[in-house]
Amino acid sequence: MRIAAARERKHDERRVAIVPDTVGRLSRLGVEVVLEHGAGAAAGFSDAAYAEQGATLTDLAALAPDLLLAIGPPPGEVLDTVRPGGLVVGLLGLATDDAILEAVAKRGLGAIALELLPRTSRAQSMDVLSSQASLAGYKAVLVGANLLGRIMPLQMTAAGTLTPAQVLVLGAGVAGLQAIATARRLGARVEAFDVRRAAREEVESLGARFLEVPLDAAEGEGGYAAAQSEEYLERQRALLAERVAEADLVVTTAQIPFRQAPRLVSGAMVEAMRPGAVVVDLAADTGGNVEGSRPGEIVETNGVRIVGASNLAAELPTHASQTFARNLANLVELMVTDGELHLDDELVRATLVVDGGEIRWSRPA
Ligand code: NAD
Repeated sequence: MRIAAARERKHDERRVAIVPDTVGRLSRLGVEVVLEHGAGAAAGFSDAAYAEQGATLTDLAALAPDLLLAIGPPPGEVLDTVRPGGLVVGLLGLATDDAILEAVAKRGLGAIALELLPRTSRAQSMDVLSSQASLAGYKAVLVGANLLGRIMPLQMTAAGTLTPAQVLVLGAGVAGLQAIATARRLGARVEAFDVRRAAREEVESLGARFLEVPLDAAEGEGGYAAAQSEEYLERQRALLAERVAEADLVVTTAQIPFRQAPRLVSGAMVEAMRPGAVVVDLAADTGGNVEGSRPGEIVETNGVRIVGASNLAAELPTHASQTFARNLANLVELMVTDGELHLDDELVRATLVVDGGEIRWSRPA
């Protein structure tokens, strides 16, 4: 059996799904590990580094994997190299486009969509959404800091005192928490908001302030449904408007799986920001948390720059590939024994969107 990775073809994709470190682990499963020439080059992994670990390097046409490991949905030219009955594993981008399913099915192949892995403790070591979101959250703060005309920490100098930057993070999941930690390390004052009240403790443990939207007495302890009443949402908007206006850097990370990202920052809120302020929208690819953000672009209005962050983890290709490839190796260990594929594990079943040429997934209503 042969496991392979090709060079990713998407223009801004620099990651690779197998790193030299995971070649040995995969080989021990009784398989041959093959990489396309130059597959890891953009992530800092040379062909020689793979060969040293026992991988074979070849041209795309000779890749011929039974199991193709990929970062994003592979294009037709890569799918065409997979052996009959083979399987493709990657982040297939089903949230925004499911054309890949038809492309895989018509070739009689199978596919595993990593974005469908359950968020359970057992699946944690395979969770590429988390490993990549964490790096994206870190990078978002660096991108924002780089565009600011001011420094992040307090600095007392002979020329006077420079006050710390004020950073606001909206959405305190995996990416948001890493953004908070990074901004704190740089010395900024940080505030954060999330609709999940459980996020409060995590935010505070990182030394940031959690923005609390006051609940009516009638809303009691604020069960999630009650907390989404129109009055609550109005209070939430008012609080965010006030805090956005005070921020030098706003990082937004709010997502809802398989839905359009919630709009948290309106055009009017951006207009009320100080010239020179920066907004980094990590949800730009799924519709944007910020009005006016465009994926892959920096839009300027009234001196405020809005970065439509797209695929930020790919801008840290070495570590992003390392964590992605380790997540994948953990998953492959569940699927391969003595050089043979077994697709019976519950985590594999939960992610198997095409099985032997048959599509078995449809978009959640
Ligand atoms: P995500 O990327 O889907 O969303 C990011 C954050 O945006 C979430 O915290 C969400 O609550 C928040 N959000 C959504 N709508 C919002 C709104 N209108 N306003 C403000 N915030 C909003 O989520 P994620 O970061 O992948 O994970 C979220 C949670 O799941 C975290 O608690 C995380 O610890 C947990 N998780 C568990 C596992 C596991 O157990 N294996 C793995 C990953 C994540």
